[in-house]
Amino acid sequence: MKTYKLGVVGDPISHSLSPKIHNLFAKRANIQIEYHGYHVLPNELDNFIRDFFDDGGDGLNITLPHKINCLQSADEFSPIVKKIGAANTLTRLTNTDKIFADSTDGMGLIKGLREARINEIMSDILILGAGGAAQSIIHDLQNMHPRVIAIANRTKEKVKPLVERFPSLDLDVLHPNTQVVDIATYISEWDFQGFHTLINATSAKEERDFKWCDLLPIEGVTNFYDLSYSKLGKTTPFVKWAKSQDIGATRKIVRDGFEMLIHQAALSFEVWTGIKPDTQITKAELFDE
Ligand code: NDP
Repeated sequence: MKTYKLGVVGDPISHSLSPKIHNLFAKRANIQIEYHGYHVLPNELDNFIRDFFDDGGDGLNITLPHKINCLQSADEFSPIVKKIGAANTLTRLTNTDKIFADSTDGMGLIKGLREARINEIMSDILILGAGGAAQSIIHDLQNMHPRVIAIANRTKEKVKPLVERFPSLDLDVLHPNTQVVDIATYISEWDFQGFHTLINATSAKEERDFKWCDLLPIEGVTNFYDLSYSKLGKTTPFVKWAKSQDIGATRKIVRDGFEMLIHQAALSFEVWTGIKPDTQITKAELFDE
């Protein structure tokens, strides 16, 4: 039986749950993998990736801070990677030995939102953050045809280049306005209909880091989704803050990004092995020590 040689590259890497997740996928799919975490500094990234694949590696996940720079080491790019300019999954193409870059973060989020029963993805969405994670999820959210995706970030200057990367899709007459805008533009120029879904794509570490959101027009938000995830029995700062928001609604959903983590990993696993793994993984299985 083939043993897939896989891994995840980041700086730092010790916190990564990917080795555990992929080993669980492999065990349940009854296939053999060797999946390791690799601590790789930015100046070593290109050599590391090339050596890994030259030595027979089949696939690599790419995490912070390498999701953009890893593209320099790839030969071919999926349509989503060309759009977002970042990747989290590298694969050695068996026919040509070329390195193929793909991104599963956006689709992982969409699946995570569905699992959280957040069904209003077609309404106006507000994303907090303008870093790599925001950049990775916007295109897949656009494809769900929300009227608008507004972006708010602590450092306001970072929003403009991000917004410019994602022009309106104008897919058809039914969905002409899947636009991405700066929150300031949204407030001043758009007919404000209220946000249903607030997505946290920041790496803020404290509940008080979300105080600035009190100034944002979030009165109507009923869905709060955090890309960050917490350990079993713990709560992320965004989830704590979101739970403290009195929105006067009877139905409020607040979820962290654990399901997204599992789904983006499952999509990578499928890219490498062709197998859709069982995604029923609990926090208890991953945080067992
Ligand atoms: P980046 O470093 O690229 O961006 C960080 C973002 O967070 C920036 O917008 C930054 O704002 C903002 N930020 C950082 N600290 C604060 C603060 N104290 N207050 C307000 N804003 C702050 O990180 P990524 O975009 O790659 O990752 C963001 C988060 O998403 C991480 O926690 C990561 O773990 C999570 N993630 C989860 C995934 C999953 O599968 N569940 C997948 C991918 C990411 P500024 O520009 O002002 O510095």
